[in-house]
Amino acid sequence: MLEYHIIPVTAFAQNCTLLWCTQTRAAVLVDAGGEPERLLAAVTQRQLQLQALWVTHGHVDHVGAVGDLAQRLQLPVIGPGMADDYWLQALPSITRQYGFPFADVLQPQRWLQEGDVLTLGEQTLTVIHCPGHTPGHMVFYSASARLALVGDVLFAGSIGRSDFPGGDGATLIRSIRERLFPLGDDVAFIPGHGAMSTFGAERRHNPFVADPA
Ligand SMILES: [Zn+2]
Repeated sequence: MLEYHIIPVTAFAQNCTLLWCTQTRAAVLVDAGGEPERLLAAVTQRQLQLQALWVTHGHVDHVGAVGDLAQRLQLPVIGPGMADDYWLQALPSITRQYGFPFADVLQPQRWLQEGDVLTLGEQTLTVIHCPGHTPGHMVFYSASARLALVGDVLFAGSIGRSDFPGGDGATLIRSIRERLFPLGDDVAFIPGHGAMSTFGAERRHNPFVADPA
């Protein structure tokens, strides 16, 4: 089974997710945005084997601690899409600008693309490209767990910002309606900020992307 534990980090309360396979104890941290000691404590407490750092997109509150953890633990950084490289290149100046602990330029071991399959112990997740908030934003989806980690694409009752450089509102709404909602109303999602929800609930109630009445 796939299990998860959400750890809000940074001043932006970004939902870093510790994700693991219950059979093998293999684990990843998705969007290790900050507070690395807290994240590692959560791993140790559950006696998990951390295997990689997965990244949905290049924003500082999602990647702020990724480089530090990768270097300390010799873990591969997987994702986001290469189109988000300009955010990762800007990390030194952006961490200063937002008052984050300094983060150097981040160079992932593997850029992700639409349709890539990620293995976590005995579990597999599919990579879905959902541009609009950032151009290289990726979503991680487990069909068997009926769970998606959607980063800043979709929130309970809201959607991601599209006013940053490289963002596009119409593209974002298309990503949600055409890439995420078809996965099924029963699919639960962990957003980058705030409470979990399901695609079905957002199709009914989300003022930005609900189905037309
Ligand atoms: Zn973001």
